[in-house]
Amino acid sequence: MGRYLGPQCRLCRAEGVKLYLKGDRCNTDKCPITKKKGMPGKGPRARIKKRSDYGVQLREKQKVKRMYGMLEKQFKIFFLKAEKMRGITGDNLIQLLERRLDNIVYRMHFASSRKMARQIVSHGHILVNGRKVNIPSYLVKENDEIEVREKSKKLLVIKESLKEYSRAGVVPWLEVDPDRVWGKVKMIPRRNDVTDLANVNEQLIVELYSK
Ligand code: SF4
Repeated sequence: MGRYLGPQCRLCRAEGVKLYLKGDRCNTDKCPITKKKGMPGKGPRARIKKRSDYGVQLREKQKVKRMYGMLEKQFKIFFLKAEKMRGITGDNLIQLLERRLDNIVYRMHFASSRKMARQIVSHGHILVNGRKVNIPSYLVKENDEIEVREKSKKLLVIKESLKEYSRAGVVPWLEVDPDRVWGKVKMIPRRNDVTDLANVNEQLIVELYSK
């Protein structure tokens, strides 16, 4: 299946939670989830639906997959990688997702959403340790330095996105210098550091793929 091109908010309403698909714009009171609109579709049946265990696990996977804007095949590859790592598979999965370059670009506020970050990376605007990297799924490491290419620093979308840095700051495991449009990965986050995924139960995803 290809990438979903419909309204972003519809996906959040289907899951019943905020997936932050519009990035910084999701923090306004215009968000339908904040306004407590129900699931998309007509009638009460769209709102009250008892799910099987499989259904619950599937929804959890869809939720996380959509948050990070990934397709099924790539998400499964990440899961298999997480499974091979030492430690708890669910924690490893979240850690790998957080290490994606498009996620880092978003978290550093060089883009106002992960979707925009993916475009910025694939259009070649980002340097990792001084070298151009145009692969959104590239996995950053501790101490990696991420920077917007010199001639891209003037891009309005990037300047606008950086305004969010002055408003909200940056997650503790990253460091950002907005004047240089530069950032550093101070450490790879542990599961508990990813606080905006507090409503995600990654164990359900592990159960789903382990069937
Ligand atoms: Fe729309 Fe963002 Fe709210 Fe999701 S979180 S419903 S994308 S405004």
